[in-house]
Amino acid sequence: MAGFWTGMRGIATVPSYVIMQPTTLCNLDCAYCYLPFRAHDRRMPVEVASAVAAAVNEWARLVPRFSVVWHGGEPLAAGRDHLAALMAPFQGVEHHIQTNATLIDDEWCTFLAEREVRVGLSIDGPADLTAQRVNRGGRPAYSQILRGAAALRRHGIPFAALCVVSDPRPGQAARLYEFFLEFGCYALGINVEEREGVNRHDTGYRDDAVRAFWAELTAAWRADPRIELREIEWALRYAGAALAGTDDQLLPRHLDPIPLVTEDGRVVLLSPELAGFTDPHYGDFASGRVTDTPLHEIVAAVAARPDGWIAEYLSGVEACRAQCPYFGFCGGAHAANRYFEHGRFDGTQTDHCRNSKISLLEGVLDHARQA
Ligand code: SF4
Repeated sequence: MAGFWTGMRGIATVPSYVIMQPTTLCNLDCAYCYLPFRAHDRRMPVEVASAVAAAVNEWARLVPRFSVVWHGGEPLAAGRDHLAALMAPFQGVEHHIQTNATLIDDEWCTFLAEREVRVGLSIDGPADLTAQRVNRGGRPAYSQILRGAAALRRHGIPFAALCVVSDPRPGQAARLYEFFLEFGCYALGINVEEREGVNRHDTGYRDDAVRAFWAELTAAWRADPRIELREIEWALRYAGAALAGTDDQLLPRHLDPIPLVTEDGRVVLLSPELAGFTDPHYGDFASGRVTDTPLHEIVAAVAARPDGWIAEYLSGVEACRAQCPYFGFCGGAHAANRYFEHGRFDGTQTDHCRNSKISLLEGVLDHARQA
């Protein structure tokens, strides 16, 4: 299979979405959080958002449903008036918010509904599994999260859920899926915990346990596929394409540059988790600043002449292409996982790719073999 894969070569000049950091602040202090400045309220000036919008509004003419994803910190911690001012310069885009849900009330629901913002909220399942999501006093945020979700339901605002799994093993998955069926989300993403940023937890889980977790989740979803289940549906799509012999066509032809714009206007490409970190060798991972250089020029320059850590990462992707039978499914995974696990970008396998790519695909296939 080595050398067969043709997708994910080089970096696209036009992204399909940008990620905006309206504030570094988060009102929670979750045990597995990777964000370095979440206790500090550094807000994005409107001039940064306007500079980003100048490029994005052009991209939105080329890309259907171009998305602006407001991440954080906790984006709602920026406050309604400030977030409204940051959103105002964007035209023809879909706004998304990834939120911890604890600040959502009726006023926020009105704000979100008026702007047709797509909402993703973070919760890890029932109270005992969400226990790592805590406020600054160390108390569980669970009831506040449920209150926020209830407000969304009351206002008829659809929402997706993002669930971090810190102990993937058989017995967990069916219980989790049952919780989310009742929770009222239309879609669910499952993230096996990652060792990155300031989170140094050991994520070297046993492969057989993780694989059985994914197999059990597949069985639960197939028994009642009422909600979109991101990882399982992608793996099943890939398995179907492999059977049809079209698996090389599934990956995009180029890597999406995924520009993340920090609160002070720096642009970090490819892996938003690198934002806010500096390394003696790689610097601050930023490719430019939107207040100095137009965003589209920053992306185009990197796509034309990748250097530094990005060139090293691209050589890592090529090493994956040459060596790994899972490349057509995975595409080489994320730069941040390589950096935070290996200290550099040109390695291949990580805990992340074993847990969330290899064991995922094998678990889904285990389910198919048993079914
Ligand atoms: S990141 Fe891991 S699973 Fe993905 S292609 Fe590379 S080695 Fe394979």
